[in-house]
Amino acid sequence: MASLNTAFHTGDSEDNVLENRRRIFALFGYDSREIVSSIQVHGTGLAIFSQVHRGEGALPGSAREQCDALVTTAEGLTLTAYAADCMLIYFVSQQKALVALAHAGWRGTLGGIGSKVVRCLHELYSLAPDRLLVGFSPAVCRNCYRVNGKVAEQFQYAGWDGPAYLKQIAEEHWSLDLAAINAEQLIQTGVKEVNMARSNWCTSCNPELFYSYRRDQGITGRMIGFIALKPFGRHNYETEAEKTA
Ligand SMILES: [Zn+2]
Repeated sequence: MASLNTAFHTGDSEDNVLENRRRIFALFGYDSREIVSSIQVHGTGLAIFSQVHRGEGALPGSAREQCDALVTTAEGLTLTAYAADCMLIYFVSQQKALVALAHAGWRGTLGGIGSKVVRCLHELYSLAPDRLLVGFSPAVCRNCYRVNGKVAEQFQYAGWDGPAYLKQIAEEHWSLDLAAINAEQLIQTGVKEVNMARSNWCTSCNPELFYSYRRDQGITGRMIGFIALKPFGRHNYETEAEKTA
């Protein structure tokens, strides 16, 4: 519990995970029983969450949507995603009360999940890519992130074979820069570089701060990332019964 694992599937007791989540969200004035999580599948699927989804994923086994990108326009609805080396990408619209959160490991990055979110927001809500604010979470850095030839080949095939993205460092060993590729994908989709906040923190280089799937060889917890539209009047969510109580 001291290290604040937030995911149910990593071997910690469910009670400890729930308590960790409660503590984290209490710090920000949110109720961890109302957070929304998806079942992350390392894909590029996107789902839109509304007030009816409140609390979906807050308890073990209660997440239903299988997707790696979450979108909401619902005030106070807390979207969450989980990672230990993978990158989380946060989106805020300057045109509409809307936020989104994406989980990008190498598969999601190869599939261009960040740019897919941008395109979906444009198609569904007419949001201009150049008016989106985007933030990156800490993630595994290029020096720590080694992939094999099979993975490297897929990135090369997709056009990410420049030294800024992928570099061979030994036979069958390549270093991959998740942040650089995700940033370039977003820029190519119309997001302005000046509207992107990138993180220089590496999850693997900083064992005192972060979980790292690679550093800890798979036996590790998960960090939680969340984003929500700040509620401007909590009374909006109270049921009639609560109002009269
Ligand atoms: Zn590193």
